[in-house]
Amino acid sequence: MRTISIMGATGSVGTSTLDLVRRDPAGWRVVALSANCSAGELAALAREFGAEIAIVADESCLPELRDALAGSGVEAAGGERALIEAASRPVDVFVAAIVGCAGLAPTMAAIEQGGTIALANKEALVSAGEVMTAAVQRHGATLLPVDSEHNAIFQCLQGGRMSDVRWITLTASGGPFRNATMAELNAATPAQAVKHPNWSMGAKISVDSATMMNKGLEFIEAHHLFPVGLDRLRIIVHPQSIVHSMVEYRDGSTLAQLGPSDMRVPIASALAWPARMDTPCDPLDLAAIGTLEFRAPDETRFPATRLAREAASHGGAAPAVLNAANEIAVAAFLAGQIGFTRIAAMAEDMLQQGTLPPPPATLDEVLLVDSETRTRARALLQAA
Ligand code: NAD
Ligand code: MG
Repeated sequence: MRTISIMGATGSVGTSTLDLVRRDPAGWRVVALSANCSAGELAALAREFGAEIAIVADESCLPELRDALAGSGVEAAGGERALIEAASRPVDVFVAAIVGCAGLAPTMAAIEQGGTIALANKEALVSAGEVMTAAVQRHGATLLPVDSEHNAIFQCLQGGRMSDVRWITLTASGGPFRNATMAELNAATPAQAVKHPNWSMGAKISVDSATMMNKGLEFIEAHHLFPVGLDRLRIIVHPQSIVHSMVEYRDGSTLAQLGPSDMRVPIASALAWPARMDTPCDPLDLAAIGTLEFRAPDETRFPATRLAREAASHGGAAPAVLNAANEIAVAAFLAGQIGFTRIAAMAEDMLQQGTLPPPPATLDEVLLVDSETRTRARALLQAA
């Protein structure tokens, strides 16, 4: 029996992870489950899985969580400090499935335990970059990518040498607007943006997929996970989301990982690594799919990948600024405050506005860049 904690347990990745845990009750003991606020939902999961502790990041939701857990024997906790304390409880697998930079501090706390981190929370790695990868090294932790593209690359690199890699190619579905005109993009609504053609995901990453910022963040994520150099990383649009990414070696061999568009596949790969486990996903029926298409990305309609490449090559604070600006812009778009194309425009403004903060060298410095950028981005929204 292995122990597991899942931060962001009520979300899309969190519930997909718990679905796999549910199918193997003898294989797992659940230690900590967290949510931002959804106390009822979190309490139900904590009771079902007999968790040791359930945490709401938003402390104002703690009374509701306590009520919902009364008599269950599950410890209830709330607030940032409690979240970090719970993330520090040693487990065999820590699943980082909070959305946004909000997941950074708990993920770093888990890394400090030196265990295995199944990382879905790409914004944490994008923002912290070298601060996180250095902590992984220092504490002897293992970072296993759950993001489907990075999980694919990780699998394609098994048995290969990084020095023999010619290209790492991230595939992108192109999102719901991949064929949209500029005029259609300007008029795009939140309801249209969150309707992803292939994947069912949380609202924030769905909007990121529609702007291609998701691929931009993944480009930076790949740069940290697989340090082959930025000039060996590229992006290709693949509307079917069947090939999850590829590695081309110097001899001309390209290895790809294929699978259904179901996050339970990469999650299972991380949970069982280096072994394999069963999933309830349908086998891949390539004859039924028929055609796999590939095309070059269009950075005129979707500038986000260019911004991410620029932020990655600038390094230092730039990726954290890009991420924080994007988080504020996506929230503003979802709230109906700004139009769709303003999201990337705002991220670009924030990268160019004034001078970037100095490169953050510690977790606290990364969090400061994040919070200061949020403040500046909110001010920009007010001024507009
Ligand atoms: P989601 O919105 O469905 O769930 C987010 C979870 O985080 C919820 O449990 C929520 O309660 C919690 N949360 C939200 N804000 C929080 C805060 N401020 N503090 C603490 N907890 C908070 O998101 P998701 O789609 O499951 O994505 C989670 C992460 O995984 C993201 O970083 C996303 O980019 C990444 N990811 C998701 C998918 C996917 O298919 N959904 C695929 C690849 C990567
Ligand atoms: Mg992905």
